Formats: sequence, structure tokens, C-alpha cells
Amino acid sequence: LQDRLSGVFDKLTGRGALSEKDVDEALREVRRALLEADVALPVARAFVEKVRTRAVGHEVLKSVTPGQQVVKIVHDALVDTLGAEAAEISLNAPAPVAIMMVGLQGSGKTTSTAKIAKRLMKREKRKVLMASLDTRRPAAQEQLKVLGEQNDIPTLAIVEGQEPVAIARRAMEAGRLGGYDVVLLDSAGRLHVDEALMAEITQVRDLAHPHETLLVADSLTGQDAVNVAEQFQSRIGLTGIVLTRTDGDGRGGAALSMRHVTGVPIKLLGTGEKIDELEDFDPRRIAGRILGQGDVVSLVEKAAETIDAEKAERMARKMKKGQFDLDDLAEQLQQMGKMGGMAGVLGMLPGMGKIKKQLGQAQLDDSIFKRQAAIISSMTKQERRNPKVLNASRKKRVAAGSGTSVPEINRLLKMHRQMADMMKQMGKKGMKGLFGGMGG
Ligand code: GDP
Ligand code: MG
Repeated sequence: LQDRLSGVFDKLTGRGALSEKDVDEALREVRRALLEADVALPVARAFVEKVRTRAVGHEVLKSVTPGQQVVKIVHDALVDTLGAEAAEISLNAPAPVAIMMVGLQGSGKTTSTAKIAKRLMKREKRKVLMASLDTRRPAAQEQLKVLGEQNDIPTLAIVEGQEPVAIARRAMEAGRLGGYDVVLLDSAGRLHVDEALMAEITQVRDLAHPHETLLVADSLTGQDAVNVAEQFQSRIGLTGIVLTRTDGDGRGGAALSMRHVTGVPIKLLGTGEKIDELEDFDPRRIAGRILGQGDVVSLVEKAAETIDAEKAERMARKMKKGQFDLDDLAEQLQQMGKMGGMAGVLGMLPGMGKIKKQLGQAQLDDSIFKRQAAIISSMTKQERRNPKVLNASRKKRVAAGSGTSVPEINRLLKMHRQMADMMKQMGKKGMKGLFGGMGG
């Protein structure tokens, strides 16, 4: 999406309010990108419409390009749709509070059950009991028991031949008698949603009256996830979603789809196979992932506060032509200082880690900005335009004039060369929109 949208950025040159045409063009790309991120088609459509009504006629901040403004609007709408508020597991009910885990086979129910149990024990200091109701899959109950033993989580004893509803009854009973705060019910799954499964889970639900019914869904399944979520929501009723395998290379589209069709919050993310690899859901992070732009949005927000669009555009043109001179560098240094220093700026750009390393920590120190600005202001106009003329004696003069040293000047010149090269490359790749907005 990044490349695409920057292509769109290039085309969006209007000023003032976003025109319908600007928005249409950008939204076509957004829609395509959403589909590529595995967002279900109806969801993508509905989402794009939501963004359109927000975007058309929207004032473009003076300091950013219309394209970036659209990305910001898209991002904010994503965060809204994903659920801006943090949603935690609710234990606000008489003990033992039943939490029922539902979902397809292999979605990560058993793993997530143990993860949640561990978290409630550790963080909330609750007394937790786990029970596996999965009588279909060989060794499924055993799997939960082993997880319990490995992590000191009490697990209901296995009774051979017992049906899921009977196990649930025994689990709730054990919860009451044992003084447990929470009983986690790990239900069976199937490869596909079917009538028998729904009937079984409905029976368990009516017996245990779960306070939370969490759909466990694999974030890599994409489009399929939508149907599954819809069916569980309409047949069983859900209170939240646990999205697993977010450590994989999925683009986060499933999160958007499932939230949209069920209307229930995504409560937790599974981020690996280990018991502690469970995280709170952060809509901003998923939105960033769907947009595939690193933290460009915060960058746009910061840039909006500090950078002048006209100057930035001038800079972008120069960058593309490889005419980034020391005067430009001085201007950049000043703006970077305002934006939390170069480390801050580079940290927000995707793929900048390497350049950050190359430049070295010393040069990212903010106090150095002032010295560097002093060096540049001690140069003649000609030297600033064309640093190549700086021979040994000129460097000595500049060092004396700025109260710095020749090695420091050399480091600055090296940094300038690296930045100029980097910018030239980026300019060629069409990242003008991105860099144009932040001014360098
Ligand atoms: P169930 O059939 O729904 O109970 O699924 P399981 O809990 O048995 O998980 C199936 C597989 O997915 C196991 O190998 C888990 O280790 C793995 N798994 C579960 N959650 C995650 C996750 O968040 N990330 C990764 N990488 N693997 C996971
Ligand atoms: Mg299981």
C-alpha cells in the first residue's frame, strides 16, 4: 500500500479542501490495499464509504499533502472501526465466572485458554480452573492438561467417555466447590462450522452461562474468518475476539473484518506459541499494519505541527534531482530538532534502522544539531551549495569559526552525502509524498 499510496500522493496536488476526485482516486487504492490485506469485500466496501464521507470536503492541513491527509483519515477510520477503546476480559460476575472459548479447529483455542488462564492468575491474582470439552480430537484434553502441568494451572481431571456438556457441568461444579474465581472452558472445534458443533456449544452455553464467550480466530485465515465469525455471533453470541498468530505475516485484515461483522471488540492478540505470548489489542498497531506504513501516521501528525508544506515541496523537488545541499541540511536539522531529533524521525520511518546504525549514535544526539548548525553557518554561500570545494584549509577556517573541529566537519559532510544519496534513491522510488510531507 505504501508504494501505491505514494503514487497517489504524487497525483494529489490540489490545495485547500480535498476534492471528490482526489478522494476517489485515493480510495480506489485504499480499497485494493484492504483486499490485499485480506479484508472481506463487503467490509472493505463499507469501510471505504465511511472514509469517503469523512474525507470529501475535509480541509487539508496547510502543512501536509492531500494524499497524506487521506492516509490520516483512513488510519483514524481504521482505528475507529477496530475499536478505539481498550477492551479487557470482564470478570464482573459472581464466581465462578465462566469463560467459554469457541472457534475452528487449529485456531489456537487450547493455547489461548492456557495463556488467558496464566494471565488472570498472574496479573489479576485470580484462582483459575481450566477444562477441555474437546472430546472429538484425540489427545485434545491431554494437550490442555499438559499445558496446565507445565504452567501450574489447575486443570479439570479427565474422565474418559464423558460428553462435552457433562464435562462443562463437572467443571462448573468443581469451580464452585473449589472456590475458583474463573472457569475457562476450552470447547471443541471443527474444520468447518456445522450444525452438530453449534448445537453442542449452545448446550454448553446454556449450562455454564459464560460471562465471556471469546471467539478464537487465526489472523492468517483472511476471508474465511468472516463467515465463521458471523455464524458464531448469530448462533452462540460472542463477547469478544482473540486473534491468534499475529506474529505471522498476515496483514491484519482479518481483525478489521471480524470486528466489523460481529461488532464485538478484539480483546487479545496471540503473538506466538509460548504461554506468555499474549498481548492487549492495540488498534493503532493493527491499523498501521493494514496500511503497511510503519508509523507514518504519527510522523504525519508531528509534521503537521511543525513543517511548512511549501518548503517541504521545494525540498522534495530538490531531493529528487539530487540537489540536496548544505543549506537544505541546515533547514532539515532545524526541523528535525523540532520533531524529536533525527533518531525520532528515522525511528518512525519503515526500514530506516540500517541508516540509523550507519550514521552512528553520536550523530543522532540532539545536542549535536546545534554544533552542526554552527558549522554550516560558518561556511560561505559557495561552500554550502557545493561542499566539494571544502579543502583542508577551508575546513580549518570553518572549524575555528564555529568552535568545532575538522573531524566533526568531516562527519557532518559524510552525513550530508549519505542523506543526499538516500534521498535521491527515495525520490526515484516515488516516495516524494512521504518525504515531501516531513520535509526531508
Ligand atoms: P485449537 O485446535 O483451536 O485448540 O488450537 P491449538 O491451541 O491446539 O493451536 C494450534 C497450533 O497453533 C499449535 O501448534 C499452537 O502452538 C499454535 N498457535 C496458537 N496460537 C498461536 C499464536 O498466537 N502464534 C503462533 N505462532 N502459533 C500459535
Ligand atoms: Mg484444542
